[in-house]
Parts: sequence; C-alpha cells; structure tokens
Amino acid sequence: MNQAARAIEQLNWAPTSWQQRVALQQPQYEDAAELNQAISELSGLPPLVTSWEVLALKQALAEAQQGKRFLLQGGDCAESFADCTSPIISNRLKVLLQMSLVLVHGLKQPVLRVGRFAGQYAKPRSADSETRDGVTLPSFRGDVVNGPEFTAEARRPDPQRLIRAHAHSALTMNFVRALIDGGFADLHHPEYWDLAWVEHSPLAAEYRRMVAGIGDSLRFMETLAGPIAGFTRVDFFTSHEALLLHYEQALTRQVPRHHGWFNLSTHFPWIGMRTAALDGAHAEYFRGIRNPIAVKVGPSVTPEQLLPLIDALNPEDEPGRLTLIHRMGHEQIAAKLPPLLDAVRREGRRVLWVADPMHGNTESTSNGYKTRRFDNIRSELDQAFDIHAAAGTRLGGVHLELTGEDVTECMGGARDLSEADLQRAYKSMVDPRLNYEQSLELAMLIVRKSGR
Ligand code: PEP
Ligand code: MN
Repeated sequence: MNQAARAIEQLNWAPTSWQQRVALQQPQYEDAAELNQAISELSGLPPLVTSWEVLALKQALAEAQQGKRFLLQGGDCAESFADCTSPIISNRLKVLLQMSLVLVHGLKQPVLRVGRFAGQYAKPRSADSETRDGVTLPSFRGDVVNGPEFTAEARRPDPQRLIRAHAHSALTMNFVRALIDGGFADLHHPEYWDLAWVEHSPLAAEYRRMVAGIGDSLRFMETLAGPIAGFTRVDFFTSHEALLLHYEQALTRQVPRHHGWFNLSTHFPWIGMRTAALDGAHAEYFRGIRNPIAVKVGPSVTPEQLLPLIDALNPEDEPGRLTLIHRMGHEQIAAKLPPLLDAVRREGRRVLWVADPMHGNTESTSNGYKTRRFDNIRSELDQAFDIHAAAGTRLGGVHLELTGEDVTECMGGARDLSEADLQRAYKSMVDPRLNYEQSLELAMLIVRKSGR
C-alpha cells in the first residue's frame, strides 16, 4: 500500500470503528443505555499508563527484536477482583523478579519484564452459555463482564463492572508502582522477594547460589565505581488481552504530543487466538492504536493468513510494534511453527517471536480438573528454541501463566505433582498456572537452552 492510500485508510479509523466489524467473544448487554452510561463514565476517568511509558516499552521491544533483550511476560490467566490483595499482587511480583534475576544472570542480557496484570479481567470462552442441571446461563467471561457463580444474577453482563475493572487495575498498578519505586526490586536486596512457603524447595539451593554470585559481583563493581543507579530499581510494564472492546475503546485516548491514539489501559495489549481474524473487530481496533501490540498464533494459522495480518497491523514495519506469541502445543509445534518462521523471514518482516508453552497444552484429568503437564510445557519450550535456531530466527521471549501462590494446578515439576495432588490447592478460575517452583524451573531451563 502506498503512503497516500494508507493515510486515507487511517483516516477511517476511530476508537469506535471496530463496531462496524464482527466482534467475537463480546457479552450481550441487556440495556444499551446502561452500557453507554458506563462507557461514557469510563471515558472520563484518568488512564492507567502514559504514552511516554508505552513508547519506552516499544523501544525496548525493538531492542528485543534485535536480539539485545529477552522478554519475560507472565501472570494469571485471569485476574479476579477478589484477588486484588496485597499478598497476591506482591507474591506474583516476587516470582517474576526471581525469574528475571535467573534470566539476567544466565542470559547475560537485560530482561524486559511485562506482567499479565492490572487489566487481565476478560476471558474468551469456547461456548456462549453453560447448562447445569437443565439450567442455562451465560458463560463466565471474566470479572470485567460478569461473576463466576452459577446464578442468573452473577452471570448477567453488568456494565458497572467496566468501572470496577478500571478501579481494580488502578489499585494493582498503584501498588506495583509503589513497591518498585520504594525499593522492592532493588538488586541489593533479593531477600525481599523470598516467598515464605518455598524454604524447602528442591530449587532453593541453586537459586541462592546464583543470588550470592550476583551479590558478590555487585559489591565488587560498586567498590570500584560507587553506587550504580540501575541496580536499585527495574522497569515493570503491564499487558492484558484486549478482548472486551467497549472497555478498550473507553480507555483509548488521543495524545497530540505523540501524534496519535494510544490504548492507555495498558502498555502492551494483545489479541487472543480466537479473535485474531484479519477482517474482525479486534484487528480493526488494534491497527489504529500506537502501542506495541502482540498477537497469539495458534496451530491453525497458515503463512497465507499470517502475512496479511502483519501487513494490516504493522504496515510500516515499525520496530517494536509487533510481537507474535506462538502457542502450538508440544505435539504440533514441530510441524506448524517452521512454515510461519520461514514466511516471515522470507518477507523480511520485523517481529518479536515469543513462545507461550501453556495454551496448547491444556487437558482435563479423569477427576475433572483442567491441567497442564510440566513435561509438555517444557517440551514445547525446548522445541521452540531448537526450531528457531534451525530456522535462523530468534526466540526472544516467553509468555507464561503463573502465580506466586502455593497452588497445585499444573502436574509435574520439581515436586512431581500428580493428578491426586491437584485437589490440594487448585484455585484458578480459568486456566491452570505454574506455581513458584515450576516457574523458577522453567526460567532455569530457558537459561540452559539459550544461554551462551
Ligand atoms: C490466554 O492467554 O489466557 C488465552 C486465552 O490464550 P489464547 O488466546 O492463546 O488461547
Ligand atoms: Mn489462559
């Protein structure tokens, strides 16, 4: 497309232009006036992030595309309003900080930390409704839409939840910012990130050795050079699946200083696998915002589908703009990923490739739990590194579902959790998450696979 044509097409974009397309995975609100009132209230509330931060992240992602940084993106499958508490937020931050320390140490490269939090409240579902004992109600679509309890009242899509989601995101964001600004992420004090329940973890000794080594180097450098500012704080960015388009629209703001529209509900929104159609409402919404964006790429995507989507979302091949998160499953990645890597490389398109080894490896146990086997997650990640190496592309990051709580949701890992263990502490409302040990083990695996 030439520049004049593109300028005209961009003129046809507005934060609401997605409404002219088919929007999948949206709730059916009963009362349009009530919805419009909530959108209008939300549109007047302050944003959660600034365009400066968004552009700084885009720059850092551009560096990751050049092989200079590694992206660690992780958090809950779905946040809930009830989990917006001090221990849950700080424990999740602790795990991410510990993992990033392992990665920095092992990869000898800056790690870009992006949480799946402060807005991860909307979920795609495989069915619009759910039937129990002859009663059919709308599916639970995340706390921004309705409640998980199986009652007509809870499952009614409630526009007031848009406002509550914004408020809970702001509370989360405020606490994370305060922790980090207050010195919680200070590399001189990795003991701040210790989690009470992991003292006896089989991985604790290896982690502590690493931390001691880093402490020694730090003291050595600071003896020579004096205090080094970069060691006392880290950057943390936020991301969520921008699924519920009324919410995203209301937090999309024009920033004249930076010449365009930004989604200021998060730094780094992504399009989920089920809503990534080229002619769909989500692609329409995403093409008009200036944030760095990501797209989940599943096993059914062909090069013929992927290349036009890249064109639509990043027509100028702008550095840092587009991240592709592949989530193929350990059985399919070897067949499905190479043709996509080859096509993108052949076209010379600039993307950051990231592996999500979680979503293609979900299964149900005989006792009714949705789970994932650690070995399958590890296998997909292992294969991803090898496939990229063979294709001459770079795996520049990982996207994980994890928590700092002592949950038993994924099987296997250092303690070899079994099907029977799942009932001990299965807390997820949606997908099974890695617990602390499983997360740290994956970080160590990444270092072994890609470390130099
Ligand atoms: C998710 O990240 O929770 C999710 C639903 O992923 P995907 O769109 O890849 O299925
Ligand atoms: Mn999930």
